[in-house]
Amino acid sequence: MPPSSAYRPEPRFFDLGPDYADAVAAADFPETILRYRNDRAAGQVGLEGLSDAEWIAHFGRFQPLPGQPGPVAMRYHGHQFRQYNPDLGDGRGFLAAQMRDASGRLLDLGTKGSGQTPWSRNGDGRLTLKGGMREVLAATMLETLGVPTSRAFSLIETGEALERGDEPSPTRSAVLVRLQHSHVRFGTFQRAAYFKRTDQIETLIEHVRTLYHPSVATGDVPGLMTAIVEASAKLTARWIAAGFVHGVLNTDNLNVTGESFDYGPWRFLPHYDPQFTAAYFDHGGLYAFARQPEAVFWNLTQLASCLALVSDAKSLADALNGFGPAYIRELRAAFLMRLGVHSLGEAADQRLVDATLGLMREAGADLRWEPVFFDWFGGFASSARALSGPRARLYQGEAFDVFRFALMEHAPDRIERLEHPMFAAREPEEMLIDEVEAIWAAIDADDDWAPFHAKLERLEAARLAWGFTG
Ligand code: AMP
Ligand code: MG
Repeated sequence: MPPSSAYRPEPRFFDLGPDYADAVAAADFPETILRYRNDRAAGQVGLEGLSDAEWIAHFGRFQPLPGQPGPVAMRYHGHQFRQYNPDLGDGRGFLAAQMRDASGRLLDLGTKGSGQTPWSRNGDGRLTLKGGMREVLAATMLETLGVPTSRAFSLIETGEALERGDEPSPTRSAVLVRLQHSHVRFGTFQRAAYFKRTDQIETLIEHVRTLYHPSVATGDVPGLMTAIVEASAKLTARWIAAGFVHGVLNTDNLNVTGESFDYGPWRFLPHYDPQFTAAYFDHGGLYAFARQPEAVFWNLTQLASCLALVSDAKSLADALNGFGPAYIRELRAAFLMRLGVHSLGEAADQRLVDATLGLMREAGADLRWEPVFFDWFGGFASSARALSGPRARLYQGEAFDVFRFALMEHAPDRIERLEHPMFAAREPEEMLIDEVEAIWAAIDADDDWAPFHAKLERLEAARLAWGFTG
């Protein structure tokens, strides 16, 4: 079936023209085996009615969807681990389509592993199946935990044998499609600034303002910076509350809507560990768990310096300085969300954040990150459950008393959520490395996709149980 009437194509980035992207063609893959289609996401953009054959034609063979001009590789630069690299750009992906969702947001379908482009450098333009599987798991877990994230839309195995230094090789190949609220990166602006194209910076500003931050007035560049600062602060706070380590917070991996994307060497924290580092190549721990706010702020300063070419530097600096307060505010909100309690004012909310981290710090490796939020969800109403559960012996002592006191001050938010069967389980859904590796091992050894699909089903149940919004 063709797209439904809910499908509303609007290829706005394509309209910017050849200064911003290059027309490309997808690789001709030897095979296209559908491994995952996100029908819930598809439903939000009117594409759920596609048959599997049509799905593969669009997301494995990349026949353009109706109203879409054909794939373009986006141009961008970026700082990688704080080193400027002018040779970036979509090297193994492209923008395939743009459309409005049911709530009117402009969304992109972007690819990973779809073949070489003018920006591939020495790369093969491909994605490993394991890498694709990992991105599906990360995006789904993040959505479950209330993080503003791109969504894995499609994963198709492509039948090639890839050589990789970080996976036993040859390894299987795939093409991923993600659904995301803008792929305009900080690095998109950096490229225009690098070539001193203030006209392009102006064009990008107006593009981003009208499409993604329409409440900002025309010409109010510091206002736009503030909107991006606040969205980025919220994203960072939600990562922290989710115990997520992105791994590669380069300026080409952060976008103007504060929606997280590009999940490579990510990890979820096993337990409280500020220095926890995800990427094996991040030797200095630059993007360690607790350094993510600093990394995002540093990247925002790079964006601001591009905008300063066409706007007032002092006002942009003021906007940047809003990051710290916005992050602290959003961190409180994120912890309240995760603990399922209402705000009780700044001071009490901050006590709760501090007490939660204090409990985890004191308890050490025995108390995993995710179970704390699971055990104590809704506050007082979970006391009996938490204190008779598998971690009961960890819930004692001074740091625990401080935590319990801070939590009990707060009233539960939508307490009926505790009636969901998920809370009758002894353990929450997590996404720790051993489980990810076990899911991959079944695929790798036996082509057994059952653990992968079972995990996604459990995460969908958890998403409904948590009921996180906004
Ligand atoms: P990433 O770390 O995935 O954000 O990628 C950084 C840059 O390297 C981007 O410009 C990518 O398009 C490019 N890149 C990564 N892997 C490949 C590959 N296998 N082939 C071509 N380009 C790649
Ligand atoms: Mg990237």
